Amino acid sequence: MTDPIVKTTTCPLDCPDSCALEVTVGAAGVERIDGSRDHPLTAGFICGKVRQFGKRLNHRDRLLHPLRRVGEKGAGEFQRVTWDDAVEEITDRFSKIRAEWGSEAILPYNYGGSNGLLTDGFLDDLYFARLGASRLAKTLCAAPTTTVAVGMYGKMPGVAFEDYAHAKCIIVWGANPKTSNIHLVPFLKRAKELGAFIAVVDPVRNLSAKEADLHLAVRPGTDLPVALALIKLLHDADKLDQAFIDQHTRNVDPLLRAASEWPVLRAAAEAGVSESDIRKLADVYAASTPAVVRCGWGLERNRNGGQAVAAVLALPALTGKFGVRGGGYTLSNSGAAQFDSSKLFDISGWNSRTINMTQLGAALNGACDPPIKGLFVYNCNPAITAPDQATVLRGLRRDDLFTVVHEQVMTDTAVYADIVLPATTFLEHSDLRVSYGNYSLGGIRPVVDPRGEALSNPEVFARLGDAMGFTDAAFGWDADTMFREVAGAVTLNSVAVDHRPLAEGRFEYYRYPEKTPVQFESVFPRTPDGIVDLCPPQLGERPYAHHQIGGNGYPLQFISPASSKLISSTFGEFNLDDLRVTVHPVDAESRNIATGDDVRVHNDLGEVVCAVSVSDSVRVGVVSMPKGAWLRSSRNGLTASALCPAHVNEVGGGACYNDAWVEVERIG
Ligand code: SF4
Repeated sequence: MTDPIVKTTTCPLDCPDSCALEVTVGAAGVERIDGSRDHPLTAGFICGKVRQFGKRLNHRDRLLHPLRRVGEKGAGEFQRVTWDDAVEEITDRFSKIRAEWGSEAILPYNYGGSNGLLTDGFLDDLYFARLGASRLAKTLCAAPTTTVAVGMYGKMPGVAFEDYAHAKCIIVWGANPKTSNIHLVPFLKRAKELGAFIAVVDPVRNLSAKEADLHLAVRPGTDLPVALALIKLLHDADKLDQAFIDQHTRNVDPLLRAASEWPVLRAAAEAGVSESDIRKLADVYAASTPAVVRCGWGLERNRNGGQAVAAVLALPALTGKFGVRGGGYTLSNSGAAQFDSSKLFDISGWNSRTINMTQLGAALNGACDPPIKGLFVYNCNPAITAPDQATVLRGLRRDDLFTVVHEQVMTDTAVYADIVLPATTFLEHSDLRVSYGNYSLGGIRPVVDPRGEALSNPEVFARLGDAMGFTDAAFGWDADTMFREVAGAVTLNSVAVDHRPLAEGRFEYYRYPEKTPVQFESVFPRTPDGIVDLCPPQLGERPYAHHQIGGNGYPLQFISPASSKLISSTFGEFNLDDLRVTVHPVDAESRNIATGDDVRVHNDLGEVVCAVSVSDSVRVGVVSMPKGAWLRSSRNGLTASALCPAHVNEVGGGACYNDAWVEVERIG
């Protein structure tokens, strides 16, 4: 018997930390998954979710062979077919759809189930471009934040997590590091030990009173008034850095005009927080150097989200908080690495219509001309994650819709497929991970053989491209060539990468003069002229305008944040099988609700029946249900997105999950 060996690789799941992993593999397969001690940010620990990845690898719902539907849509009745049969059927059906309805009647639907460069936006894009399929606007997350970050700063790399330990003031705004950015937490703790002031702006108390000095429990959708009130307070107190504004920014006037309309009293009333807390935050932030804002993705999930992100990101520019280690802001750091797929193939002519993924329900139910007749889902589980769940499920049930799902396990979306294709997990294939949190590029290599007949995403699209008769050389590359070619199209802070250590599952650090970048010292705005635009055109015709929030007759605001059990909907096959809604004690008492009761959470879009937890972790007037739970986790087979509207944010077209309002009633 051979001894277990430890293999290095990288976690590609939708999380900013992109951990370097050490996977212990023995005769029976994966025995342990740990964080690498070599990686300064991973520092030897990982989340409990990925520690259990072996459960997904070997789960009874793991897809091992291609399947063809034999029962009713959604009944989950399939028969095994060969890969050749599956590829032939997909090719035949897509060809017929193109001939009868046009190529745009085919829609690829994918998101962040796996964020590797080979698994997302590589041969898949080439295949759908050559088909002339509809394009997809990826808006379920990060569309407003990305749009704003590009418009204001050109996606300037942000403050590294390890540099938070230097900060004297840290504002964690719309983010929950203990759930979805756990490697920031040690640096928050270190900063606190060194005397930093830590504030959290979020409807949920994500950090305890011990961990944070101030919690502004804003009502969802009111981050913009609070940020503008902070700007007005700083302006009125003459605490803006006029020299920095003059030298490095443009369009300060429209921002200050918008801020002038939000005296602190008005903002406090709109956000449901105390005036003195907003004043305190303004005072501490102004007086602290370095000061950093960790801007998350929670504040973008509503109609006001894009404008709110812009006002928050304006704070360090207005106050000149850059130029010092630990000072500035962090949003996504993905812009520090560039992947230029045009070095590999040319898809610049792919100009078909674009469909917003947030509005999949409408798109599948008659909103498009030509209608969607072919749907190819991969790296995604829209039955759970797309808003207006009932409408999405109705669309997936359509008999005249040909649906292909490439997945690792039998998800709530896969049961609606006509053809199911088994996908490898990141422990079974090669890939490259550009982190959107830390400053390293991670190599992913297979640490175990693929289970069953599972194939990776580029292997599947290579077969499909070949079957369709597409002649691009990339469809014929073997796995090593693909990896080498993709690595060759990546630069880290404009420097080429060496693919060899990456192919062994190691990571490469970005090369800044020092290990991590300092904003306005070693990294600068990547706008065309290097100037920060405080009111970029991406904010639309009414920059910094606030939509009043209101419930259309429903009294409680409904949010669906990430949980510590799931990454989006990944791991729902074994985690979070008992869905709960969290209600504040005041709201629970007035409804005669106690922890453990079954409740009906409902609005005009739908209802979810589940158990309740009563807790003051959410603010009064807000109820919270974790996103990503699978349909079987609730009593009535619907989950959080059944209550979320499908309208989109005017900045970036982002999903507005937190614009949902509901009532909660005890059952029985
Ligand atoms: S999900 Fe995040 S914290 Fe967990 S292992 Fe992956 S990168 Fe690390």
